[in-house]
Amino acid sequence: MDETRMRMAVPNKGRLVDPTLQLLRDAGLVFDDHARSLLSHCENFALDILFVRTEDVIEFVGDGVADLGITGTNLLVEAAAELPVIAELGYGRCRLEAAVPADATPRSIADLQGLRLATSHPNAARRFFADRHIDVEIITISGAVEVAPRMGLADGIVDLVSTGSTLVMNGLRSVGRLLDSQAILISTPDAQRRRASEIDDVQTMLGSVIAGRRRKYLMMNAPVAALAQIERILPGLDSPSIIPLAHEGMVAIHAVVASDEVWGLLGRLRTAGATGILVVPIEKLLP
Ligand code: AMP
Repeated sequence: MDETRMRMAVPNKGRLVDPTLQLLRDAGLVFDDHARSLLSHCENFALDILFVRTEDVIEFVGDGVADLGITGTNLLVEAAAELPVIAELGYGRCRLEAAVPADATPRSIADLQGLRLATSHPNAARRFFADRHIDVEIITISGAVEVAPRMGLADGIVDLVSTGSTLVMNGLRSVGRLLDSQAILISTPDAQRRRASEIDDVQTMLGSVIAGRRRKYLMMNAPVAALAQIERILPGLDSPSIIPLAHEGMVAIHAVVASDEVWGLLGRLRTAGATGILVVPIEKLLP
């Protein structure tokens, strides 16, 4: 392998693959994923992408085979690897939760004292309960965790949840959250020293896409008389751009707003006198 090129380990299977490839492409990296064969060269940046199993990403980065890696927070906690998290990537969101059969007594994490919990995340679970001095028995199984209570193998489970529908379908009820997880970009202190400026470039490129995804570009026309009211409606932070239009007394107003605020804004802007309101996606945003 070419030692001058930086290497990033990314998942080759599972639910983090598609959003990871999308993020790298949206950031502007040009590469062929060759049906995710082991290695892919970026054409426009000195970066090689290594496709490995999601849980092996940490090993590849920790051992210095890759300088950067994309994995999930929960896997980093499970591996108890003290690797620096360079960026939170905003996808692959899930929670590690404890759950019991819907008709069981426990209502909170503390109520799990003395119970047996089945999980495929034993290290994260053990550490969580030990930190809180709650004595539980962790039973490690690698799959079908949610059926363990029904089979009599455990009193409850600790498992990853995103919508919660798997719990409900299996007659389980969450009693609390052990950790929040999402896809993260990790590195090592050594790689951060050796490749400071290249890692900074990657962080900037990926960060600009993530920042862009969280916001929308809002454009509208309005009579000058409505301007003060519209400015009051638009969320603070950045001052909007006000551009005079050819028709006297009319202006165009452009502003960047959080994606999740758009829903509550449009009706109020229209009532205040805005017309021709456009909501446009932002490809990249560098504050
Ligand atoms: P996979 O390779 O599909 O098993 O992906 C596992 C990783 O995806 C987990 O370790 C989490 O970081 C992440 N993930 C996101 N949402 C979920 C979910 N609902 N269940 C399991 N893993 C999830």
